[in-house]
Amino acid sequence: MTDSTTTPAHAQVFRPGLLDGQVALVTGGGTGIGLGISELLAELGAHVVIASRKPEHLEAALASITARGYKASVVQLDVRDPERVKQVITDVAETHGRIDLLVNNAAGNFYAPSATLSPNAWKAVVEIDLYGTFYCSQAVYPIMAKQGGGRIVSTSMTLHYRGWPLMAHATAAKAGVDALTKTLAVEWAPQRIRVNAIAPGPIPTEGVRKAFTPPADSGVPDLFAAAEERMAEYARKGIPLGRWGSPRDVANMVAFLASPAGDWITGGIFVVDGGEWLAKAQP
Ligand code: NAP
Repeated sequence: MTDSTTTPAHAQVFRPGLLDGQVALVTGGGTGIGLGISELLAELGAHVVIASRKPEHLEAALASITARGYKASVVQLDVRDPERVKQVITDVAETHGRIDLLVNNAAGNFYAPSATLSPNAWKAVVEIDLYGTFYCSQAVYPIMAKQGGGRIVSTSMTLHYRGWPLMAHATAAKAGVDALTKTLAVEWAPQRIRVNAIAPGPIPTEGVRKAFTPPADSGVPDLFAAAEERMAEYARKGIPLGRWGSPRDVANMVAFLASPAGDWITGGIFVVDGGEWLAKAQP
């Protein structure tokens, strides 16, 4: 029995060169889960284009992937801007001749009480998570349709399955991502565009540590700011498979969906969470 905390799961599962010749665009691919996805896709042979706002994220990710001999490039993009999204995606397709995989991973998030959530705060998160996912998917559609197919994988979450205090903006946006995934899957199947989503469980990235620091006195548990010991205790008690997730856990599912094994899979929302949300649903 192997354990993915010590052995890279893809080393036993995905063959080298699995994605040779493919072009993948990963939004928010310079940090956290997106970086894990970008790295694995590049290791499997894809040319990965990472798109996000901050040059420091883009440059660091590009340097780390290309230093290992893999193919990547970066482009500055705010997914809230539909015209810029269209321009960037058109440019990527012109440069590389195709786009096989779009990973909608960019998101913004923070704790905020719904009663006082400002219109701008609501708008910012919904625009990045939901509108951005739609803008990128719509922009990549004509390219994938023309080349005879493609794959879209969006990053959702599980918190909206039951509701999560202080996250009205993000949970509403991700519920929209789930709905969009199912609708686009059916609408674009004739063009052989497979549209799926992944719902990660708790993965202690820097981004999520910041987002999940609840306001003092809110009564919401501060899981990530807690000591390592308390995090280990949460993993034991709150996550049936007994550990926190890693970006690689999510990336493995993306690689599977991008591979020929994902050929007949569309409209799915794949929970990758060690069983966490189901266990929370128990009385
Ligand atoms: P993260 O590191 O903060 O990732 C968010 C990424 O989105 C960053 O790379 C950021 O890059 C990019 N981004 C933010 N706003 C953008 C914009 N307007 N345009 C383009 N890019 C933008 O957090 P993460 O934990 O890896 O999360 C990645 C995805 O997984 C998100 O969709 C999140 O909702 C989902 N998720 C995470 C968890 C978890 O426990 N970590 C659980 C469930 C779901 P720039 O700052 O450079 O723009």
